[in-house]
Amino acid sequence: MVPLSHIAVLGSTGSIGTSCLDVVRQHAGRLRIAGLAAHRSVERLCQQVSEFRPDWAVIGSEVVVIPEGRNEGTRWFRGTDCLRSLIRAPEIDTVVCAMVGAAGLPATWEAVDAGKRVALANKESLVVAGSLVMKRAAETGAQLIPVDSEHSAIYQCLQSGRREQLRRVILTASGGPFRGRKRSELADVTPEMALKHPTWNMGPKITVDSATMMNKALEIIEARWLFGLKAQQIAVTVHPQSLIHSLVEFDDGSVISQFSPPDMRLPIQYALLFPDRLAGPAKQTDWTRAQTLELLPPDLEAFPALRLGFEAAARGGTCGAVLNAANEIAVERFLGGELSFLSITQVVEDVLNHHQFDEQPSMSELLAADRWAREEAIRWKI
Ligand code: MG
Repeated sequence: MVPLSHIAVLGSTGSIGTSCLDVVRQHAGRLRIAGLAAHRSVERLCQQVSEFRPDWAVIGSEVVVIPEGRNEGTRWFRGTDCLRSLIRAPEIDTVVCAMVGAAGLPATWEAVDAGKRVALANKESLVVAGSLVMKRAAETGAQLIPVDSEHSAIYQCLQSGRREQLRRVILTASGGPFRGRKRSELADVTPEMALKHPTWNMGPKITVDSATMMNKALEIIEARWLFGLKAQQIAVTVHPQSLIHSLVEFDDGSVISQFSPPDMRLPIQYALLFPDRLAGPAKQTDWTRAQTLELLPPDLEAFPALRLGFEAAARGGTCGAVLNAANEIAVERFLGGELSFLSITQVVEDVLNHHQFDEQPSMSELLAADRWAREEAIRWKI
């Protein structure tokens, strides 16, 4: 019998976190929630705790009040030190990193350092510090399995060939809500328009990233580190139906793709049960219906974020940290009505161009580059 896997879900109240709990509900014989952590959604966390009865519940924010009348058996903690203890607890074997933004990096680092299986939904961990995270994972034996749907697809496709005979990976992009628009038609985009995604239902930050295609830029950088690729080995194709989640091409010209309805519960389950593929909660393909698949070249003029992604992947070093940090601030400022839609990518490009590039930064140098880029992006004016 396969032993029960004890899981800590970091970011359990977000979109990936709740999908993860859906998966666990369906595989109670294989997966057990041992720890739940949320930043500040304490009510939701309480509901999850009363359903899953984990050993640990951690609330990240120092200002949120933990309510009275909690169930027995769950120990409640607050703050990042406790999060570290949860990740390192010997009874935890799998850590789901589902926090949003660069704030997820310390937790991913801790899990990798402790040699756990890491179901990685926080792409920023690799965008910011991919070289250090992958090196540490190789040293500790931590198994890093991506939850990002594109990278999960690539991970799955790579099982069908030899790594040294891989020619390239092709990331699919839905194209977001503004696919097909020219650059001039993007000037008046409001936050409300950018927050409507045609195929994926996600949090606001990633939905805006999808509209600018900065999400794909982050995924290019993520893929570069996760799979040890050169930037030239990564391509992007626009696939509006979001049914093919990415493809890999081998030296013989064969292209392998992973196809399934858009549903994050599939890549989450794959990461939690790898290498098993069991019937689960994810939506299934209806083979009685006609399906049309389009694969279109991306428009780099309308969506210059893609170009920045390729550049940052090629240069490596501090570029990922700077690109990501500038983008996090620019998206916040756009949602707050301070910046136009087209300015988001412009801020990122300007901050990237002005930064002090370091080819082999340490973790503290990466964090300093991240802080510097945030300050620059806050100051940025047209
Ligand atoms: Mg993705």
